[in-house]
Amino acid sequence: MLPDALTFTAPAPLVDIGANLTHESFAADLDAVLERARSANVTTLILTGTERAAIEAALTLCERDALVTLHTTAGLHPHHASDWTPAFADWMASAAQHQRVKAIGECGLDYNRDFSSRTDQKRAFEAQLELAARTQKPLFLHERDAGVDMLDMIKQWRDDIGDAVIHCFTGEKETLYGYLDLDLHIGLTGWLCDERRGHHLRSLVRDIPANRLMVETDCPYLLPRNLPAKLKGRRHEPALLPWIVREIAHYRGEREHELSVSSTETARRFFNLPLTEDA
Ligand SMILES: [Zn+2]
Repeated sequence: MLPDALTFTAPAPLVDIGANLTHESFAADLDAVLERARSANVTTLILTGTERAAIEAALTLCERDALVTLHTTAGLHPHHASDWTPAFADWMASAAQHQRVKAIGECGLDYNRDFSSRTDQKRAFEAQLELAARTQKPLFLHERDAGVDMLDMIKQWRDDIGDAVIHCFTGEKETLYGYLDLDLHIGLTGWLCDERRGHHLRSLVRDIPANRLMVETDCPYLLPRNLPAKLKGRRHEPALLPWIVREIAHYRGEREHELSVSSTETARRFFNLPLTEDA
Protein backbone atom coordinates (compact mmCIF):
# COMPACT_ATOMS: atom_id res chain seq x y z
CA MET A 1 0.00 0.00 0.00
CA LEU A 2 1.12 3.51 -0.76
CA PRO A 3 -0.01 6.38 1.44
CA ASP A 4 -2.74 8.56 -0.14
CA ALA A 5 -0.29 11.40 -0.68
CA LEU A 6 1.77 9.07 -2.90
CA THR A 7 -1.10 7.80 -5.02
CA PHE A 8 -0.59 9.49 -8.38
CA THR A 9 -2.26 9.10 -11.75
CA ALA A 10 -0.40 10.20 -14.84
CA PRO A 11 -2.52 12.36 -17.19
CA ALA A 12 -1.54 10.06 -20.10
CA PRO A 13 -0.17 6.49 -20.14
CA LEU A 14 3.52 6.27 -19.22
CA VAL A 15 6.34 3.90 -20.10
CA ASP A 16 8.85 3.31 -17.29
CA ILE A 17 11.97 2.51 -19.32
CA GLY A 18 14.03 1.30 -16.34
CA ALA A 19 12.46 -1.00 -13.75
CA ASN A 20 14.56 -3.58 -11.89
CA LEU A 21 11.54 -5.70 -10.99
CA THR A 22 13.56 -8.88 -10.64
CA HIS A 23 15.25 -7.33 -7.61
CA GLU A 24 14.61 -9.40 -4.48
CA SER A 25 12.76 -6.52 -2.82
CA PHE A 26 9.84 -7.11 -5.22
CA ALA A 27 9.60 -10.87 -4.69
CA ALA A 28 6.91 -10.77 -2.02
CA ASP A 29 4.38 -8.37 -3.54
CA LEU A 30 5.00 -8.08 -7.27
CA ASP A 31 1.32 -8.39 -8.19
CA ALA A 32 0.41 -5.48 -5.95
CA VAL A 33 3.28 -3.44 -7.41
CA LEU A 34 2.00 -4.06 -10.94
CA GLU A 35 -1.56 -3.25 -9.91
CA ARG A 36 -0.44 0.05 -8.42
CA ALA A 37 1.54 0.84 -11.59
CA ARG A 38 -1.62 0.24 -13.62
CA SER A 39 -3.73 2.52 -11.42
CA ALA A 40 -1.05 5.20 -11.71
CA ASN A 41 -1.41 4.91 -15.52
CA VAL A 42 2.08 3.49 -15.89
CA THR A 43 1.03 0.91 -18.45
CA THR A 44 4.29 -0.39 -19.91
CA LEU A 45 7.49 -1.33 -18.10
CA ILE A 46 10.87 -2.09 -19.62
CA LEU A 47 12.61 -4.38 -17.14
CA THR A 48 16.35 -3.93 -16.84
CA GLY A 49 18.46 -7.02 -17.63
CA THR A 50 21.86 -6.66 -15.98
CA GLU A 51 23.25 -10.23 -15.94
CA ARG A 52 22.14 -13.72 -16.90
CA ALA A 53 19.98 -14.59 -13.87
CA ALA A 54 18.21 -11.22 -13.97
CA ILE A 55 17.54 -11.55 -17.72
CA GLU A 56 16.14 -15.06 -17.34
CA ALA A 57 13.93 -13.93 -14.47
CA ALA A 58 12.79 -10.91 -16.50
CA LEU A 59 11.88 -13.08 -19.49
CA THR A 60 9.80 -15.34 -17.23
CA LEU A 61 8.04 -12.28 -15.84
CA CYS A 62 7.33 -10.98 -19.34
CA GLU A 63 5.45 -14.19 -20.10
CA ARG A 64 2.87 -13.65 -17.40
CA ASP A 65 -0.35 -12.03 -18.28
CA ALA A 66 -0.04 -8.92 -16.22
CA LEU A 67 -2.10 -5.78 -15.93
CA VAL A 68 0.91 -3.95 -17.22
CA THR A 69 2.79 -4.75 -20.43
CA LEU A 70 6.28 -6.01 -19.69
CA HIS A 71 9.35 -6.05 -21.92
CA THR A 72 13.00 -6.31 -20.99
CA THR A 73 16.50 -5.34 -21.95
CA ALA A 74 19.32 -7.90 -21.98
CA GLY A 75 22.94 -7.14 -21.30
CA LEU A 76 25.83 -7.20 -18.88
CA HIS A 77 26.09 -4.27 -16.46
CA PRO A 78 29.59 -2.75 -16.12
CA HIS A 79 29.62 -3.90 -12.47
CA HIS A 80 29.55 -7.51 -13.78
CA ALA A 81 31.81 -6.88 -16.79
CA SER A 82 34.44 -9.37 -15.65
CA ASP A 83 31.80 -12.11 -16.18
CA TRP A 84 31.96 -11.55 -19.96
CA THR A 85 33.24 -14.90 -21.28
CA PRO A 86 32.94 -16.59 -24.69
CA ALA A 87 30.16 -18.77 -23.21
CA PHE A 88 28.30 -15.73 -21.95
CA ALA A 89 28.75 -14.02 -25.33
CA ASP A 90 27.09 -17.02 -27.04
CA TRP A 91 24.24 -17.01 -24.57
CA MET A 92 23.75 -13.25 -24.97
CA ALA A 93 23.66 -13.57 -28.75
CA SER A 94 20.71 -15.95 -28.51
CA ALA A 95 18.96 -14.00 -25.71
CA ALA A 96 19.17 -10.89 -27.88
CA GLN A 97 16.94 -12.58 -30.46
CA HIS A 98 14.05 -13.01 -28.00
CA GLN A 99 11.09 -10.92 -29.07
CA ARG A 100 10.55 -9.53 -25.56
CA VAL A 101 14.13 -8.27 -25.49
CA LYS A 102 13.72 -4.72 -26.74
CA ALA A 103 17.27 -3.43 -26.23
CA ILE A 104 20.84 -4.55 -25.61
CA GLY A 105 22.00 -3.50 -22.13
CA GLU A 106 22.24 -2.37 -19.53
CA CYS A 107 25.83 -1.99 -20.56
CA GLY A 108 28.45 0.72 -20.47
CA LEU A 109 31.08 2.09 -18.12
CA ASP A 110 30.99 2.84 -14.38
CA TYR A 111 34.16 4.48 -13.03
CA ASN A 112 32.37 5.55 -9.87
CA ARG A 113 32.37 2.10 -8.33
CA ASP A 114 34.90 0.23 -10.51
CA PHE A 115 33.45 -3.12 -9.42
CA SER A 116 35.03 -4.65 -12.55
CA SER A 117 38.38 -3.44 -13.88
CA ARG A 118 38.20 -0.70 -16.51
CA THR A 119 39.82 -3.02 -19.04
CA ASP A 120 37.09 -5.62 -18.47
CA GLN A 121 34.40 -2.92 -18.61
CA LYS A 122 35.61 -1.68 -21.98
CA ARG A 123 35.89 -5.20 -23.36
CA ALA A 124 32.35 -6.18 -22.32
CA PHE A 125 30.97 -2.87 -23.56
CA GLU A 126 32.70 -3.16 -26.92
CA ALA A 127 31.26 -6.66 -27.37
CA GLN A 128 27.76 -5.38 -26.64
CA LEU A 129 28.14 -2.47 -29.05
CA GLU A 130 29.06 -5.05 -31.65
CA LEU A 131 26.02 -7.18 -30.75
CA ALA A 132 23.72 -4.16 -31.03
CA ALA A 133 25.19 -3.33 -34.42
CA ARG A 134 24.67 -6.89 -35.57
CA THR A 135 21.09 -7.26 -34.28
CA GLN A 136 20.11 -3.62 -34.93
CA LYS A 137 18.45 -3.50 -31.51
CA PRO A 138 18.72 -0.23 -29.59
CA LEU A 139 21.19 0.13 -26.69
CA PHE A 140 20.34 0.79 -23.04
CA LEU A 141 23.47 2.44 -21.65
CA HIS A 142 24.81 3.07 -18.16
CA GLU A 143 27.51 5.64 -17.53
CA ARG A 144 28.77 6.98 -14.24
CA ASP A 145 31.83 9.24 -14.05
CA ALA A 146 33.03 7.83 -17.38
CA GLY A 147 31.64 10.36 -19.87
CA VAL A 148 34.86 10.89 -21.81
CA ASP A 149 35.59 7.20 -22.51
CA MET A 150 31.92 6.54 -23.14
CA LEU A 151 31.68 9.27 -25.77
CA ASP A 152 34.87 8.02 -27.34
CA MET A 153 33.66 4.43 -27.68
CA ILE A 154 30.19 5.37 -28.91
CA LYS A 155 31.73 7.68 -31.53
CA GLN A 156 33.67 4.76 -32.98
CA TRP A 157 30.49 2.72 -33.30
CA ARG A 158 28.02 5.49 -34.10
CA ASP A 159 27.57 4.65 -37.77
CA ASP A 160 27.00 0.96 -37.08
CA ILE A 161 24.60 1.02 -34.14
CA GLY A 162 21.01 2.26 -34.18
CA ASP A 163 19.38 4.24 -31.36
CA ALA A 164 20.92 4.33 -27.88
CA VAL A 165 19.75 5.79 -24.58
CA ILE A 166 21.92 6.98 -21.71
CA HIS A 167 19.73 5.74 -18.89
CA CYS A 168 19.60 7.66 -15.60
CA PHE A 169 21.60 10.56 -16.95
CA THR A 170 23.28 12.40 -14.08
CA GLY A 171 26.21 14.11 -15.83
CA GLU A 172 27.20 17.68 -16.56
CA LYS A 173 26.28 19.98 -19.43
CA GLU A 174 29.30 19.15 -21.56
CA THR A 175 28.60 15.42 -21.42
CA LEU A 176 24.90 15.94 -22.17
CA TYR A 177 25.71 18.02 -25.23
CA GLY A 178 28.23 15.39 -26.34
CA TYR A 179 25.53 12.72 -26.16
CA LEU A 180 22.94 14.86 -27.93
CA ASP A 181 25.45 15.68 -30.67
CA LEU A 182 25.73 11.92 -31.26
CA ASP A 183 21.94 11.83 -31.51
CA LEU A 184 21.57 9.68 -28.38
CA HIS A 185 18.45 9.52 -26.24
CA ILE A 186 18.43 10.49 -22.57
CA GLY A 187 16.65 8.67 -19.73
CA LEU A 188 15.77 10.77 -16.69
CA THR A 189 15.07 9.39 -13.20
CA GLY A 190 14.16 11.09 -9.94
CA TRP A 191 17.82 12.10 -9.57
CA LEU A 192 16.84 15.73 -10.10
CA CYS A 193 14.43 15.45 -7.13
CA ASP A 194 17.54 15.22 -4.94
CA GLU A 195 18.48 18.66 -3.66
CA ARG A 196 21.95 17.44 -2.60
CA ARG A 197 23.23 16.02 -5.87
CA GLY A 198 20.61 16.53 -8.60
CA HIS A 199 20.52 20.31 -8.57
CA HIS A 200 22.63 20.80 -11.70
CA LEU A 201 20.19 18.71 -13.75
CA ARG A 202 17.30 21.08 -13.15
CA SER A 203 18.62 23.74 -15.52
CA LEU A 204 19.80 21.13 -18.04
CA VAL A 205 16.58 19.22 -18.68
CA ARG A 206 15.18 22.01 -20.83
CA ASP A 207 17.95 21.38 -23.34
CA ILE A 208 16.84 17.82 -24.12
CA PRO A 209 14.55 17.68 -27.17
CA ALA A 210 11.22 15.98 -26.37
CA ASN A 211 11.83 13.33 -29.01
CA ARG A 212 15.06 12.32 -27.24
CA LEU A 213 13.72 12.26 -23.66
CA MET A 214 12.36 9.22 -21.82
CA VAL A 215 11.50 8.68 -18.16
CA GLU A 216 12.26 5.91 -15.69
CA THR A 217 12.18 5.04 -12.02
CA ASP A 218 15.30 2.80 -11.90
CA CYS A 219 13.35 1.18 -9.05
CA PRO A 220 13.89 -0.12 -6.39
CA TYR A 221 16.78 2.36 -6.38
CA LEU A 222 16.64 6.17 -6.43
CA LEU A 223 13.43 6.84 -4.49
CA PRO A 224 12.77 10.58 -5.12
CA ARG A 225 13.90 12.52 -2.08
CA ASN A 226 11.18 15.15 -2.28
CA LEU A 227 8.06 12.93 -2.26
CA PRO A 228 5.14 14.59 -0.46
CA ALA A 229 4.99 11.80 2.15
CA LYS A 230 7.36 9.34 3.77
CA LEU A 231 7.45 5.84 2.35
CA LYS A 232 8.10 3.00 4.76
CA GLY A 233 10.90 0.76 3.54
CA ARG A 234 12.02 3.43 1.05
CA ARG A 235 11.62 1.10 -1.92
CA HIS A 236 10.99 2.92 -5.19
CA GLU A 237 8.35 1.50 -7.58
CA PRO A 238 6.81 2.25 -10.99
CA ALA A 239 3.61 3.76 -9.50
CA LEU A 240 5.71 6.73 -8.40
CA LEU A 241 6.83 7.60 -11.94
CA PRO A 242 4.12 10.29 -12.38
CA TRP A 243 5.76 12.28 -9.56
CA ILE A 244 9.08 12.25 -11.42
CA VAL A 245 7.36 13.31 -14.64
CA ARG A 246 5.69 16.17 -12.77
CA GLU A 247 9.07 17.35 -11.45
CA ILE A 248 10.84 17.09 -14.82
CA ALA A 249 7.95 18.89 -16.55
CA HIS A 250 8.17 21.66 -13.97
CA TYR A 251 11.88 22.25 -14.65
CA ARG A 252 11.29 22.06 -18.42
CA GLY A 253 8.55 24.63 -18.17
CA GLU A 254 5.95 22.38 -19.74
CA ARG A 255 2.74 20.69 -18.68
CA GLU A 256 2.81 17.26 -17.12
CA HIS A 257 0.44 16.04 -19.82
CA GLU A 258 2.73 17.22 -22.60
CA LEU A 259 5.76 15.38 -21.17
CA SER A 260 3.70 12.26 -20.47
CA VAL A 261 2.58 12.08 -24.09
CA SER A 262 5.96 12.91 -25.62
CA SER A 263 8.03 10.59 -23.41
CA THR A 264 5.68 7.68 -24.15
CA GLU A 265 5.75 8.38 -27.86
CA THR A 266 9.55 8.53 -27.78
CA ALA A 267 9.76 5.25 -25.81
CA ARG A 268 7.36 3.56 -28.22
CA ARG A 269 9.47 4.47 -31.17
CA PHE A 270 12.80 3.81 -29.44
CA PHE A 271 11.92 0.32 -28.16
CA ASN A 272 9.79 -0.51 -31.18
CA LEU A 273 6.80 -1.35 -28.97
CA PRO A 274 3.69 -2.84 -30.56
CA LEU A 275 1.04 -0.23 -31.27
CA THR A 276 -1.78 -2.45 -30.11
CA GLU A 277 -0.99 -1.80 -26.44
CA ASP A 278 -3.02 0.84 -24.70
CA ALA A 279 -0.06 2.95 -23.59
ZN1 LIG B 1 22.32 1.99 -14.50
